[in-house]
Amino acid sequence: MSVEKKPIDWANLSFGYLPTDWRYVSVYKHGAWDDGGLTDDPNVVMSECAGALQYAQTCFEGLKVYTTVDDRIVAFRPDLNAQRMYETAKRLVMPPFPVDRFLSALDEVVTANKAFVPPYGSGASLYIRPYMYGSGAIIGVAPAPEYTFRIFTTPVGPYFKGGVKPLRLLVSEYDRAAPNGTGHIKAGLNYAMSLYAGLEAKKQGFDENMYLDSQTRTYIEETGGANFIFVTKDGKVVTPKSPTILPSITRRSLISVAREYLGLEVEERKIELSELPEFVEGGLCGTAAVISPIGSVTTRDGEVFLPSGMKEMGPITKKLYDTLTGIQYGTIEAPKGWIRTIV
Ligand SMILES: *Cc1c(COP(=O)(O)O)cnc(C)c1O
Repeated sequence: MSVEKKPIDWANLSFGYLPTDWRYVSVYKHGAWDDGGLTDDPNVVMSECAGALQYAQTCFEGLKVYTTVDDRIVAFRPDLNAQRMYETAKRLVMPPFPVDRFLSALDEVVTANKAFVPPYGSGASLYIRPYMYGSGAIIGVAPAPEYTFRIFTTPVGPYFKGGVKPLRLLVSEYDRAAPNGTGHIKAGLNYAMSLYAGLEAKKQGFDENMYLDSQTRTYIEETGGANFIFVTKDGKVVTPKSPTILPSITRRSLISVAREYLGLEVEERKIELSELPEFVEGGLCGTAAVISPIGSVTTRDGEVFLPSGMKEMGPITKKLYDTLTGIQYGTIEAPKGWIRTIV
């Protein structure tokens, strides 16, 4: 495959928005999605009374497309993003965008922007942002009469550019999401709710918040945009089970990798904050970083340092990271159906 790439300094890209040539758009009107297609217009025009603007009827997804060791352009488990967005849309009373159409739209927009897909070895990737919103006007509180589904893409740099830096977390006094059961949907409303708490934590010198369940403030939930995994002293991987955290695709994949590739025991269960001192490693998992190690967590009683330290990933975290990224880049054989070859 020989594609003329754009003149971009891939290794020095940050996680920022750099518009590419094409984006995908489809509109839902009179009870049906239209055929959809590509547009070169990066701007969205809609009614001042759009459901998205007035009542936050909007949701999104995030995934990465990258070049493998054998020079294919691939996406990692995009069917799960399509499925998750389908579920999120239903919860927000938006017409779900069909999974097969999501996947063909992804193929179409990535193929059109293939000159923006970073080369293998750069550590960079093409970030894919599917999103959907109520674009029709509505003033009485009700679902909008019209919807728009779009996908834009933007090249992003390697996550651990300055090396791995374990995170200092703060147990937040705030709830991570609107406390009405919307924590399991991927939607801007939850992110808007976490901005204030995020800034408060940063002002105090922390990297991220650790949110607890809002009802009892006993159990570990997640951060604003990533799930947790921990490793116990006897080498078991544990990860919170809760109906109010977003089902991370990275986390689900790491659980499989831990079990099937590394032969580790995995427990998905409620995790009490008071269990923290039992853990030897911890990490945040999500599409952006795969796993970002945790150095310490500050609770009301003080700072708990994980034995894996503030310098590098713990040994099991590192194995999970190396195996999953190996699967993604094609140096380790992937489970069936995990990699979608686009070009
Ligand atoms: C997107 C997201 C995650 C991570 O999910 P991935 O599918 O692994 O990227 C975790 N928590 C929240 C709240 C999210 O929005």
